[in-house]
Amino acid sequence: MIFYIEKKAKNLPQVKKILEKFPKAKILEIDNYKNLFDKKISWTIWENIFILAKLDSNPITSAPPKYWHNWNAYFFKTSLNCIFDCSYCFLKWAFKNSYPVLFLNYEEIQKKIEEKILEIKKENPNHETIRFYSSDYSDIQGFDFMSNFNENFIKFFEKFENVMMETRTKSANIENFLEIAKKWFVPKNTEIAFSLNPQSLIEKYEKKTASLEARFSAINKLLAKWFKVWLRFLPLLPVQNYEEIYKKFLNEVKKNIPMDKIFSVFATWLLYTKEDYKKILQKNPELDILYQLQDWWDWFFREKEKIRKKFYEIFDEFHEKTIICLDEKNLI
Ligand code: SF4
Repeated sequence: MIFYIEKKAKNLPQVKKILEKFPKAKILEIDNYKNLFDKKISWTIWENIFILAKLDSNPITSAPPKYWHNWNAYFFKTSLNCIFDCSYCFLKWAFKNSYPVLFLNYEEIQKKIEEKILEIKKENPNHETIRFYSSDYSDIQGFDFMSNFNENFIKFFEKFENVMMETRTKSANIENFLEIAKKWFVPKNTEIAFSLNPQSLIEKYEKKTASLEARFSAINKLLAKWFKVWLRFLPLLPVQNYEEIYKKFLNEVKKNIPMDKIFSVFATWLLYTKEDYKKILQKNPELDILYQLQDWWDWFFREKEKIRKKFYEIFDEFHEKTIICLDEKNLI
């Protein structure tokens, strides 16, 4: 294991914990994570190199309108890059290289989140549920063995009323959640959202992620312990025979998961801003699914209208409360 550690981060308690876990790791001090992170290096998924850093900028960004059904929705960032290798992932052209960066000044990040929550509560004491999505720049769960994110943030979010954290993953490693339940409690303010796709598409487009079977098993173990589990179908992939593939897949989901215990179902398109779409197409012209997208009236490229209409039909049949994110059914 190799750790590049920012000088200003080396005394953080989380950094010390990581170093205790990996006493034989090679440590290289750096002045700023950007010195490495901003270097153009060909894309490889690193499993043994991590940059440990301190986030000095604001960790919170607002979710775009219509991302969820209310306005109080935010992303917060504690890491960059991912241990998985989804071919459609925007990280591949958003960043110059794939070095995983963990921001470990958790207390400061939590302070910012708390300030945001208090600000909203002050402005509107009768606010709708405030939602925080843990990172849109990585799969947090995939990093948890290193970052101890869950242990720190699940506990933190428990102290608020009417606030929810969603942690979204394509991993099936849930031991850390089960440990938390054993050690402390089953969290009431954290929802674990599993991102699902048909097994054939996982194999083709979502390399290194857990198999569908393993994700089903993880979901059922958490449901059995009364965790809040959500299903996420994202992104829906416009492959050949998508209609047949997804109908079969959703039947499989129903057979393997007790849907009456699932709180919400959320799906979204293969979605890129116009700018990003041009970049990924340039970088990855071989990626077949990109050619099934079209420009719409807003800022995004997404599946062609014909395909979206069909997906709406498929999901209406699957689960009446499916939310399709960043779209307007009545405008198609
Ligand atoms: S799991 Fe998410 S963040 Fe990781 S590579 Fe896949 S799409 Fe990107």
